[in-house]
Amino acid sequence: MMNDNQELDMSRLHWLMQMLQTVDVGLVVVDKAFDIQLWNGFMENHSGVRTSRARGSNIFGLFPELPEQWLTRKLESVFTLDSRAYSTWEQRPHLFKFKSYRPLTGKSDQMYQNVTIIPLTGMDKSVTHAAILIYDVTDIATSKIELEKANQELARLSRTDRLTGLNNRGHWEERLDQEFRRFKRSQTASSLVMFDIDHFKKVNDTYGHQAGDEVIKLVANTLMQLQRETDISGRYGGEEFGIILPETNAEQAVIMAERLRISLEAAKVNYEGQEIQFTISLGVCEISNEMTEYNQWLELADQALYSSKRNGRNQTTIHSA
Ligand code: GH3
Ligand code: MG
Ligand code: MG
Repeated sequence: MMNDNQELDMSRLHWLMQMLQTVDVGLVVVDKAFDIQLWNGFMENHSGVRTSRARGSNIFGLFPELPEQWLTRKLESVFTLDSRAYSTWEQRPHLFKFKSYRPLTGKSDQMYQNVTIIPLTGMDKSVTHAAILIYDVTDIATSKIELEKANQELARLSRTDRLTGLNNRGHWEERLDQEFRRFKRSQTASSLVMFDIDHFKKVNDTYGHQAGDEVIKLVANTLMQLQRETDISGRYGGEEFGIILPETNAEQAVIMAERLRISLEAAKVNYEGQEIQFTISLGVCEISNEMTEYNQWLELADQALYSSKRNGRNQTTIHSA
């Protein structure tokens, strides 16, 4: 016969088992051979593997997709050190590959999981088993990922010129400053090309502002096609642009400038049945040790550009010291 105390103990154990079955956390107990001894309702529901099948099975035999090396190392440290081990979704998005049905979007994603592994001791206080706790942190993880994506997009937008997709003036000047400082340390050549569309006011006056915008876009697209991956171009003003050419001396920069000039001279913008042609004037300036700040570099390239304008436009001028 059981006495009252024993009966209460049995009830408590029964309650515990029911709660463990229903709690919204995955609970798995394994022994030192990594055979499963306990598998709760959460694990059953998300894996589709029934408790009756899980119990007694080797965890890696049952789930070959588990990161065996990693989990073995974690479990062994729990067994030998008698201490907890953790893994967050940021370190490892999930341990078990479960689906998560998102009521908000209606679609199913992978479940993001935080994992805690705790040592379980027997009567003699030695660690005989380990409990793996799986927390579903999909909501937190997805909102953090979305927030990061939105922040990245905002950062990109704050650097980009809306009309052309080029670097905007603020960001481009920052890059120019960086390149200037890099030169001060490394002393390797670098050149700057500034250019401006010729008689652009006339394009606007003749064809309208929108047609003018199309010309600006074509200039930007041509520039992006012609530049090297390491070149950094930006929209400096309304119809004025800059190109930073790292590791490039003035002669090489002129080759790039002339390719751009000739290519744009030949280009036609079709706007509402009309063909618009235009030219650009350019100024090239190689960086030098006489300059103490990036603004001087910019100023000298601009002076060369205005020489091109004065001398009849549609040409490239190199700044000569
Ligand atoms: P120059 O050959 O000396 O450069 O003559 P320009 O007519 O190109 O020079 P100016 O500076 O007199 O005129 C530039 C014009 O560019 C004036 C301005 O209205 C126009 N502009 C500036 N930004 C934009 C823009 O984003 N879109 C359009 N359509 N026009 C713009
Ligand atoms: Mg102009
Ligand atoms: Mg101008």
